[in-house]
Amino acid sequence: MSETFHDVPGATEASAAREAFASWVDEAGGEGRVFGQVRAAGAGDGHYVLRHIEDTAASGLDVHEDPRAAREISKTTEAGEYRPLKSSPNLRRGWELRLAGARDLAVAMNLLYPAGIVHWHLHREGRLQTTSYRENAARQSGIYKRVQRLSDEGVQDAARACCEDAVCLKKTLWDVDSETPLAMERGEGEIPCPEPCSVFVSFARRVRLFEREKKRDLDAIGLSPSEKEDLAALVEAAATGHVGFAREAEFEKPLNERRMRYRRLTLAPKLRPG
Ligand code: SF4
Repeated sequence: MSETFHDVPGATEASAAREAFASWVDEAGGEGRVFGQVRAAGAGDGHYVLRHIEDTAASGLDVHEDPRAAREISKTTEAGEYRPLKSSPNLRRGWELRLAGARDLAVAMNLLYPAGIVHWHLHREGRLQTTSYRENAARQSGIYKRVQRLSDEGVQDAARACCEDAVCLKKTLWDVDSETPLAMERGEGEIPCPEPCSVFVSFARRVRLFEREKKRDLDAIGLSPSEKEDLAALVEAAATGHVGFAREAEFEKPLNERRMRYRRLTLAPKLRPG
């Protein structure tokens, strides 16, 4: 029976992934390969160069030769905000990593996209095990236990709002459960997502709160308190020209991008029937 993996890989698996990834980059020649928002290309003598995809032809970049510089690069956005989800399409620009071989290439890629190349490798070999939303939710405890009660429709809407390429560059491989596939654009990129991540679980918890509200607290025109809160925040933003977007994982705040994407799916059709 072949092995499957979705947790921390063993040393052998990590080294096989490292070699496979370096070969894949080598095969592409000078063009290199795109992985998330990074272009990785061979630079001769077994060396590699990494840049942001939008800096392919840029000059005057900050050059680093230590692969661990990727840790700082991946930490904050262009605006200096912490990045809770490394696969969000908000990797900052302006840097170049010059790396002295496949090992350094893997170190840098793992800092930019944690577990990305191992999952990529296992997926290519058909050995990446996925964990459905329901299996993942069954393991949650404490304040996250309530995600077990999120409806299938809620999971579908949450995944469309939280996981599509506009907000996460991973290819979503997991499903609601073994019988219920996710009905969404799963993503075009190379990095597989085998299991709901902690950002998704946190978002699912918020969507479950919205669902409960809809059952208990709708007003005469069918709006929930949090829907009204979001509409008021949008009106205020438009009226003042000041849009104070919430941080990426601040789902309790009205002007959060994923929360707004969820409202587009669930509130906009209510406001504009047909
Ligand atoms: S669960 Fe969704 S948001 Fe999280 S890494 Fe996977 S695709 Fe991205």
